[in-house]
Amino acid sequence: MTGNTLHQALFAPLAARDDALITLPDGGVVTGRAFAAMLARYAHALVESGVEPGDRIVVQVEKSAHALALYGAAITAGAVFVPLNSAYTPEELDYFIENAEPRIVVVDPALEPVLGPLAAKHGAWPLSLGADGGGSLAEAARGQPESFDPVERAPDDLAALLYTSGTTGRSKGAMLSHSNLLSNAQVLVEEWRFSSGDVLLHILPIFHTHGLFVATNVTLAAGARMILLPKFDIEAVLAHLPQASVMMGVPTHYTRLLADERLDRERVAGMRLFVSGSAPLLAETHEAFEARTGHRILERYGMTETNMNTSNPHDGERRAGTVGFPLPGVEIRITDPESGEVLAAGATGMVEVRGLNVFQGYWRMPDKTAEELRDNGYFITGDLGRVDADGYLHIVGRSKDMIISGGLNVYPKEIELALDAQPGIAESAVIGVPHPDFGEAVLGVLVPRPGERPDLDAIRATLGDSLAAFKRPKALVTVPELPRNTMGKVQKTELRARFGDHFARSRS
Ligand code: AMP
Repeated sequence: MTGNTLHQALFAPLAARDDALITLPDGGVVTGRAFAAMLARYAHALVESGVEPGDRIVVQVEKSAHALALYGAAITAGAVFVPLNSAYTPEELDYFIENAEPRIVVVDPALEPVLGPLAAKHGAWPLSLGADGGGSLAEAARGQPESFDPVERAPDDLAALLYTSGTTGRSKGAMLSHSNLLSNAQVLVEEWRFSSGDVLLHILPIFHTHGLFVATNVTLAAGARMILLPKFDIEAVLAHLPQASVMMGVPTHYTRLLADERLDRERVAGMRLFVSGSAPLLAETHEAFEARTGHRILERYGMTETNMNTSNPHDGERRAGTVGFPLPGVEIRITDPESGEVLAAGATGMVEVRGLNVFQGYWRMPDKTAEELRDNGYFITGDLGRVDADGYLHIVGRSKDMIISGGLNVYPKEIELALDAQPGIAESAVIGVPHPDFGEAVLGVLVPRPGERPDLDAIRATLGDSLAAFKRPKALVTVPELPRNTMGKVQKTELRARFGDHFARSRS
């Protein structure tokens, strides 16, 4: 057998597994052996369709066992897997095909009529794959051999292009090598004490680093099993929790679980670990979850470009409101966002990351790569944070969300924490909006608890006790809920667009 780094570690062992690798929502199972055979058939179909080592395969399909087998097939055939959010429109798909220049594009069968002309325009070969295993790729795979000689891929060869969610400007394709992905999966298996006895409740999308590389790769690297749900559906999650041992979710999943009284100690008696990431977990959610279930959620921090960087400890104190310590092999430093100089211990600044996990650069965007990836290997994350005296990293927000009011820097997280603690407030988001005198002014967007009408004047007055005047919101507004994307991230751009003329309006 030839060498293919990720195949050897994640997929090769499956052929010898007769146990259930994947349990489907209807109770059906896919054994390791059946998955390996499916993967091999898809790999043959890809090669027959013209895939050569290093070719990109763009994939926009529904989450399913077939989609995961296609991921394995692309890696095993030596290709670069390029998963896309299934919510992207044909216009957006056009951009990604143009940018990634794939040999093959695979979409849901329902999208085939749209894909045909798009693929033809960019010289790619169109294929389709349904969640039920239907479509032209499945056709091409039918009758193919159930084993496939992996195409040689060295640790530094590309395994995936993962597009950033691109809230500012166009999405960038983060180039991730076999070694980027494998090193991170192996570290997480150790750090989170994964074993072949684990059963992961898989509720995350598989076009994103969290669901594809954290959830899936870690499960595969540990020789564990997964219950594969198409998405987070509260009924399905509650029904399957008793059969699982690990769940990985975004903060919204935990607040939704807490909102349901059926979540109790008995239901999670078989669970050993709950992991949260992709967006900040409120300390309050952390505490409420522990009070209800007896489990302290383990919060970790990562991103498309780097996989996972830090994690709260499995065995030590999982500190609410922090993202824990650098993972083994990962270095974190805090720098001045302007000058790039390393700051003194405890200071707040730009979080920079270096390690085997850090990507190779942005696909065909050397200028962007040079802006964010330093010559010495540190990646400038765009997140602001500080390391406390015990070594825990605190993320205080995205640098582009930092507010400069009257020339002074305001970190939204500090104000949000103060607002969240006020009576009648469920959660908050703090943004900077244009202001005639201050340039930017701090605006607090509050979500009241159900049935409550918080006293906004009283809240502003109370903040005066704890926050310097320049940090205090110049105004507070309420909304029924905060706009969030599928990964649970608050969409501050949307809030800024909505409230951007607040001070212009309140003056007139
Ligand atoms: P993505 O590339 O979509 O995975 O988004 C990565 C970004 O999500 C990071 O740069 C952070 O801003 C944010 N993020 C991820 N995990 C956390 C966390 N535990 N706490 C706060 N922010 C997080």
